[in-house]
Amino acid sequence: MATVAFWLLCLAFVGAFAAQVAKRVQLIAAAPNTFAVDNLPFRIQRFVRDVLLQVRTIRERPLTGLMHAFVFWGFVAFGGYTTVEFLYGLGIVDLRGTAWFHAYRLMLTPFATAVLVGIIYLLIRRAFVRPIALGDHVSLESIVIALFITTLMVTFLLTFRLEEGTTAATVNWWIHALVILAFLALIPASKHFHLVVSPITVFLKSPELGNLPNLDFEKEQVGLETLKDLGSKMVLDAFTCVECGRCQVNCPAWGAGKELNPKKIILQTQDALVAGTRDAKLGEIYSETVLWQCTTCGACENQCPVGIEHLPILIGARRGLVSNGDAPEYLGAMYNNLERRSNIWGLGYDQRAKFVQSAGLDTFDAAKHEVLVWLGCAGSFDADFQKSLRSLFDILRTTGIRFGVLAKERCNGDPAKRTGNEYMYQELATANIDDLKAAAPKTILTSCPHCVKTIGSDYAKFGYRVDVVHSSVFVEELTRGRAQSSADGAETVTFHDPCYLGRYGGTVDEPRALLTRFGADIREPVRNRDNPYCCGAGGGLLFADKEEEPGSRISDVRFKQLRDTGATTVVTACPFCSIMLKGAQASAQADTQFVDLMTFVSSKLPRT
Ligand code: SF4
Ligand code: SF4
Repeated sequence: MATVAFWLLCLAFVGAFAAQVAKRVQLIAAAPNTFAVDNLPFRIQRFVRDVLLQVRTIRERPLTGLMHAFVFWGFVAFGGYTTVEFLYGLGIVDLRGTAWFHAYRLMLTPFATAVLVGIIYLLIRRAFVRPIALGDHVSLESIVIALFITTLMVTFLLTFRLEEGTTAATVNWWIHALVILAFLALIPASKHFHLVVSPITVFLKSPELGNLPNLDFEKEQVGLETLKDLGSKMVLDAFTCVECGRCQVNCPAWGAGKELNPKKIILQTQDALVAGTRDAKLGEIYSETVLWQCTTCGACENQCPVGIEHLPILIGARRGLVSNGDAPEYLGAMYNNLERRSNIWGLGYDQRAKFVQSAGLDTFDAAKHEVLVWLGCAGSFDADFQKSLRSLFDILRTTGIRFGVLAKERCNGDPAKRTGNEYMYQELATANIDDLKAAAPKTILTSCPHCVKTIGSDYAKFGYRVDVVHSSVFVEELTRGRAQSSADGAETVTFHDPCYLGRYGGTVDEPRALLTRFGADIREPVRNRDNPYCCGAGGGLLFADKEEEPGSRISDVRFKQLRDTGATTVVTACPFCSIMLKGAQASAQADTQFVDLMTFVSSKLPRT
């Protein structure tokens, strides 16, 4: 009788679980397929690190992450126990008297204790501490799930105290089994669905941060306009969100009081998918204003513990807007500059030629030169950045490196790509690739992190592969053994990691090695290394004239963080960070000094 009742209950609850999962699977299957499994070794390594070992979860919030990891590891460890108990309850086989099961049960006791500690900590945090990242209301569903997990662990531990066959033991068994079934039915429609899908989402996440595959214009691809244009990975992402808010608290736009909140973007996608509004315009679901507030810094994606990729949605939606002529005015002016003059400021290339001549630069010749120095828009036209490039040339000449530059350059296309103007990006990129192929450098050296990312990794999507190195990495290697770090008379500086260098490129040690090698005492700002706070320039926002509304300017927030270190010298390694932070300095009327990393090194480099 009890077995029949258990069968019926299992069928009902598993049926409810399956029906809800089927709805989500149907939505994923109906989306254009964007799943990819390239670079398998990397994906497997990341799966082990971020899913099995929970490294990403623990890294950013050590205590909370560890408590979450306890619950996750317990969830995995109890899989076999639940299976054996259900096989017994369904009358299929009773393995509970076997020696290995006794040993396994004993082995589970420390897991059960750890899960209890973890879930009670998380329950208190959610119900009473209520950090801002978790939202402004206590989720009833989370409380219920926490109580379910607590009940499961308590009923498990009670099995060691209750004598088999007694009424108390039977009641305890039924409570345990019913809670598992109720948990199962609750999972798919809640954020706890991540228990099922997040291992898949992490595995399917692109190895590349901010991965934006080229649009194929032959196939009339124009970007994401409506909900039904979202690819299968984006739909899976929407159903994976655990609502932890890590993306939100790390987003510089949200931090500066803008309307953009990457967590909200994912939850709005989920709501719209469940509501079935397939033809709804993305600009209306998220609001166009919000879509233009993203600096493409990558913090959201990089921090997400469950493999969600925000940038393909945000930039994809921008592409859709641009294809309909809905870009903001300031971008229209920048596109015009790119179209007429192939650079973001619309200046004549005679200015670049004058700089090339005055700096005594040779035209690159693969037979004569070891490296090709890519100047970029800033290097071609920005007088301040040209000073830093002169420092780089000085270092190269002092260390005997033979280098040259292209006779002609265009913008690498990054500002067009990351604002959604894919057509313009592809025109610039393919023309540059033709010139680079003709010049045939083995190594390209640049002081612009955006050029490193675009030429080094985005151009690979056209099949053009070349070694592109940021000057901090190149010069660090070049100057090893040239100077000893010295504690005497050390200059106190702070270093601002550019997002496209630290987060996208993972280059965090080399700039610091250079600074300490040449006598700097570094004071780290909050948000540093591979999780810096953005300067506010990326994603076309360098050109935005109304970035200050609503909230603060992102650059002002970052400048304050840098000032709070107490250092009066800020070292930068990106022309756009430099422009933004100097603007913030001017508004704050501060006497902070800005020095480009190459200028710092050049001024200290022994000349013997
Ligand atoms: S990329 Fe940066 S600015 Fe854009 S949503 Fe993510 S965290 Fe915010
Ligand atoms: S998108 Fe990722 S980081 Fe953001 S709330 Fe959801 S799970 Fe957390």
